[in-house]
Amino acid sequence: MTGVNEIRSAFLDYFARHGHEIVPSSPLVPRNDPTLMFTNAGMVQFKNVFTGAEHRPYSRAVTAQKCVRAGGKHNDLDNVGYTARHHTFFEMLGNFSFGDYFKPLAIELAWNLVTREFELSRDRLLVTVYAEDDEAFSLWRKIAGLPEERIIRIATSDNFWAMGDTGPCGPCSEIFFDHGAHIPGGPPGSPDQDGDRFIEIWNLVFMQFEQVTRDERIPLPRPSIDTGMGLERIAAVLQGTHDNYDTDLFRRLIEASVELTGVPATGTARPSHRVIADHLRAAAFLIADGVLPSNEGRGYVLRRIMRRAMRHAELLGAREPLMWRLVPVLVAEMGRAYPELHRAEALIAETLKLEETRFRHTLARGLALLNEATENLSAGDRLAGDIAFKLYDTYGFPLDLTQDALKSRGIAVDTEGFAAAMQRQREEARRAWAGSGETATEAVWFALRDRLGATEFLGYDTETAEGVV
Ligand code: ATP
Ligand code: MG
Ligand code: MG
Ligand code: MG
Repeated sequence: MTGVNEIRSAFLDYFARHGHEIVPSSPLVPRNDPTLMFTNAGMVQFKNVFTGAEHRPYSRAVTAQKCVRAGGKHNDLDNVGYTARHHTFFEMLGNFSFGDYFKPLAIELAWNLVTREFELSRDRLLVTVYAEDDEAFSLWRKIAGLPEERIIRIATSDNFWAMGDTGPCGPCSEIFFDHGAHIPGGPPGSPDQDGDRFIEIWNLVFMQFEQVTRDERIPLPRPSIDTGMGLERIAAVLQGTHDNYDTDLFRRLIEASVELTGVPATGTARPSHRVIADHLRAAAFLIADGVLPSNEGRGYVLRRIMRRAMRHAELLGAREPLMWRLVPVLVAEMGRAYPELHRAEALIAETLKLEETRFRHTLARGLALLNEATENLSAGDRLAGDIAFKLYDTYGFPLDLTQDALKSRGIAVDTEGFAAAMQRQREEARRAWAGSGETATEAVWFALRDRLGATEFLGYDTETAEGVV
């Protein structure tokens, strides 16, 4: 069986053999893009290279990039523990061409890697192309010899990538693995494509245009390639499981969580152990990259991740802080590939322990209040927004923690009511400030927030009420 660490090396070595420079992962906090909350793809560190604003001494690169998709435009937080394929933290393997090779070699390199090096059966593979991309369609026919019915044309934005409203963009082509008819889910483009049977393992982006204005798109003189393959997903395939959480690395984290809590990973405890393992990785890597829990911005996303995990530890009956005790297991698994974990090990453990200790009693009291408030609610009902706000304000429950807590019972939260309660409280706070010797900075802050709205003022790509708080 091929372990995660070997698969990562195999990917990097393969592309190095094909003339790619091995470039280290960039940090999770993007240096070159203040609008982006976390690095969420391999291409992030190369954005300026793709636009031509920055030059590198190589035109082909390969990376294993740390990514977080929690908060911001890409937010997989709610999927974690419930789908077989989503994490908040994951590693994206990618090869890049900066105006060097384009579609034919990109497809050939990808196909040879999965079918020859990784020896996946071609009968289990299918690909998508952008509906208008006849070129990619015929290249998959020619290079991979795939029959036409296994090359699916998709007309949606899933298969058209753009850096932003303007800038480089182009069609993409994704490789899917069929985990077998015993798993529910349909092929890409079908109504039940979100099941776990056909899992997207690799996305190839063909950057061939530049969006100049909203209406004008011109071909790039030297088109580029950007690809991303989820390490955890390809590991699942290579280890003969359809589930990322059954791969070697996750099994070890989950075993440790089972051992510490004494609760087997079955029934309702199964998602809890998965969330703990996933959120441990996200929290540890974020802390190692300098994010600390706080009440705003990136620090608040970290806090939300940590607190969600703590609720699941509580569900498993843990009466003592748990997460920090799992840190050595994670460092043993991933510390070789990511030495920053070794360097920050003590800080990670201390930060987790402190947050767990602080949150423990308000967590228990808040959960008691939540139980009481939802006693008479059933599936399809909504929890009143002012209760969700009280949990947030008095007990430190991030909104998504409350939502997650009610998910299994099919109860939603009145998020508009929550936002309104928060707004009311802010207005009261502001009235209290007036005439109380408000400083210049505070006056500017409130003025700016009024003008821009709380969401924009944060400057992040936030979509839901969670982003505001
Ligand atoms: P999905 O449709 O499954 O959510 P995606 O299309 O959002 O995936 P991309 O943005 O194309 O994903 O990212 C490239 C690759 O990174 C994907 O093909 C997948 O292998 C991996 N990946 C994306 N999101 C996650 C995640 N949350 N957890 C683990 N791997 C992921
Ligand atoms: Mg996605
Ligand atoms: Mg997708
Ligand atoms: Mg994709």
